[in-house]
Amino acid sequence: MTASAPVPVHQVAPRRRPARRLAWWAACLLCGGLIGFLFAVAGTVRGRRPTHRRVVLVSLAAAVQIVTAGYYATVSMVSDLPPCPPTAGLDGSITGRVSAEDDAWRNVVNAPVSGGAMLYAAARGGALCRCATNGIVVAEVPDGYARAGTMYGTIYVTHPEPGASPDRILRLSEHEARHTYQWAWATLLAGPTAFPTAYAGDELFFPGPRNHFERQAGLADGGYARAPDGGPSVTGWTMFLTLTLAGGGLAALRLRFRTTGSLRATASSQRSGSVAGRPHSLHTLTDRRSASLSELSHVR
Ligand SMILES: [Zn+2]
Repeated sequence: MTASAPVPVHQVAPRRRPARRLAWWAACLLCGGLIGFLFAVAGTVRGRRPTHRRVVLVSLAAAVQIVTAGYYATVSMVSDLPPCPPTAGLDGSITGRVSAEDDAWRNVVNAPVSGGAMLYAAARGGALCRCATNGIVVAEVPDGYARAGTMYGTIYVTHPEPGASPDRILRLSEHEARHTYQWAWATLLAGPTAFPTAYAGDELFFPGPRNHFERQAGLADGGYARAPDGGPSVTGWTMFLTLTLAGGGLAALRLRFRTTGSLRATASSQRSGSVAGRPHSLHTLTDRRSASLSELSHVR
């Protein structure tokens, strides 16, 4: 076939519509952050199509996040949440914060997770209030948190702490507000599951006051007693490095076996392809020569 010959219609690969491609990239951004977005774009550029199963899972996860983010936006804009009692009449200047506007990007990035926490609080009949000093929302529910409380996006799920002084509550709210930025940066980088995964992984090797996220958020403000040695333990680092090296070694071995296997498969298909793809004339010539030899043997 020459270069100018028309290509049959059934051989032309169907083009993906730009709107569908953009929707796929946006869904990957929602589920996997910038890393997920870059993988999706790279896959499109290389002409790879995601499997049907992956498309369904990512689309569902993105749809859930859009719903929860919408709920968070609605509650935040429509209902005027009361200020949490110790912060009533205060603003960010008391804790050295710049302004509430600086928290806007954090609230947007955390909106899907925050909306999920708000829905949970609503289902449990929890009361909501907003810390006037840093914009985080406190949801008081009977359970659904670890230790004294857990930050989900920008929502602090906790229980009433009777007898706590206003100073103690202010310091704790600042500690939790720092966790909201950890949530936001991790979500921006790798999606809404990134921060809890990273936190749980860190907690495995560096529990309690040794946890790097807790240390960054401020141990004293969070009510943690400092570790006796004042930092992450040598045992934790040893375990972490050992498991990381072991995991890296296993991944390298797996990659090597996969590469070797695919090379063998390619070589095998090339060998069989060279026989099957032999020119028709050569086949015919060989067959004819065999037939001629056969006829000669009969003559003799
Ligand atoms: Zn904390």
